[in-house]
Amino acid sequence: METMNPELKTACDTYLSELAEKEALDAEEIRTGLHSGTMVLLYNPGHENCIPTLIGQPASVKINANLGTSPFLIDQDLELSKARSAADAGADTIMDLSTGGDLDISRTRFLQEIELPLGTVPIYCVAQEYIADGKDPAEMGEDELIREIRQQAEQGVDFMTLHCGVTRRAVQLAKQADRKMGVVSRGGSLLARWMEANDRENPLFERFDEVLEVCARHNVVISLGDGLRPGAGADAGDSAQWEEVIVLSQLGRLAREKGVQVMIEGPGHVPLHQVESQIQQIKRVCDYAPLYVLGPLTTDISPGYDHIGGAIGGALACKAGADFLCYITPAEHLTLPNEYDVWQGVMASAVAAHSAEVSLGRPAAIEKNNRISEARKALDWESIADYSLDPGMVKKRRENFASKEECAMCGEFCAVKLFS
Ligand code: SF4
Repeated sequence: METMNPELKTACDTYLSELAEKEALDAEEIRTGLHSGTMVLLYNPGHENCIPTLIGQPASVKINANLGTSPFLIDQDLELSKARSAADAGADTIMDLSTGGDLDISRTRFLQEIELPLGTVPIYCVAQEYIADGKDPAEMGEDELIREIRQQAEQGVDFMTLHCGVTRRAVQLAKQADRKMGVVSRGGSLLARWMEANDRENPLFERFDEVLEVCARHNVVISLGDGLRPGAGADAGDSAQWEEVIVLSQLGRLAREKGVQVMIEGPGHVPLHQVESQIQQIKRVCDYAPLYVLGPLTTDISPGYDHIGGAIGGALACKAGADFLCYITPAEHLTLPNEYDVWQGVMASAVAAHSAEVSLGRPAAIEKNNRISEARKALDWESIADYSLDPGMVKKRRENFASKEECAMCGEFCAVKLFS
C-alpha cells in the first residue's frame, strides 16, 4: 500500500504495540504487513468499542461467524444472543447477513452491543427493499448501492463484502461452463441478474473509485467477494472462478494504491485434492492479500454435518496460506443456524485453525498442545478443561464420574496410570 488512509494510520499508531503483544509478533512486522497489504486491520473508528483485529498470517488465523435474520425468521434478539454465543466460543468477527425485518436496526444493534468487528454485505439491504415489496431486485438503482455502502461505512461497519469482480464476462463464462450449481453466492446472483436485466456492467466494478473513496474515509476493509465461487466440487477451478479471481487481484491493487485495505474471498466447495493448489494460486495471483475462505467444503454430501467438511477444508486451506475462516455450521444449506449451530460452527473452525497453526509451526499453537498433553498425562482434569477449546464441554462430559481420577473411557484400564 503506497499510503495508508489517515484512519488506518491513526489506528496503527494507537494499537500497534497492543496488537504485537496479542499476536506475539514484532510490531514492525505488522506495520510492514499492513503497508504491503498482506495484513489488514479491521477497525472502523465509527464502531465504538470495536476490538481492532488483525487478519493475515503470521497473525493467528481468525474466525468469522455469520449471523442475521432471514425473511422466514426475524428475531433480532435471537441474532444478538447468537452473536454473544459466537464471541464466547471464540469467534473473532461477526457478519450481519440479515435479509429479513428492519436491517438498519439489526446492524445498529450489532454495532452497539457487540465488540467484535462487524462485516456486512450492503447489496442485501438494497435488494431486500425490493424483494420485501414483491419487486424484482434487478430494478435497484446503482446510486442506491453506493449510498448504502456510504451509510453503512458512516455507521461503523468494519468490513464489507462487495462482489466487484462479478463482471459480465465472468458471468458469461459461468454460464458457458455448464456448472452443476451455477451461481451460489447471493450477492453474485443478485448482480448477475441485475446485469442481465439492465444490459449493463456490474456497478460495483464500474464505480469502484467511488467505493474506494468511501472505504478510505472510514477505514472500511473491502472483502472482495467471490460471487462466482464454486458451489459444487465439480465446479471448482473452472474458468469463471479464475476470471473473477484475476479481476479481484486487479481491484485489490487499485484499492491499495488508494490506501484501502483489501481481503480476497475464496471458495466454496473444493475437493480435498484441490484445496492446497487453489489456495496457493489465489494467494499468489492476489499478491498475498489476506484470504477469507468460505469453508472450503471438501464434500457436497454432508448437509447437517457441513461444519465437519468445512473444518477439513479450512485446516488444509490455512496450512496452504488462508488467513481467515468463515465458519460453517451444521445448519449450512438447510436453515438459519440456531445458537447450538453457531457454537458448533465456531468450534469446528477453531479446530481447523489450531490444526493448521500447529502444522505451520506456530509456537503459541504448539505450546497449547503441549500444555494440555502434560495435563492429560497428569490426569489433571481442571487443567485439561482450562486448556481445551471448550472447557464447559469437558466439565459436562466428566460430570458423572468427576470424583474418579481416571475417566470413564477405560476406568481401571487407564493406560496413563498403568504405564507411565
Ligand atoms: S481412562 Fe483411558 S481415556 Fe481416560 S484418561 Fe485414562 S487412558 Fe485416557
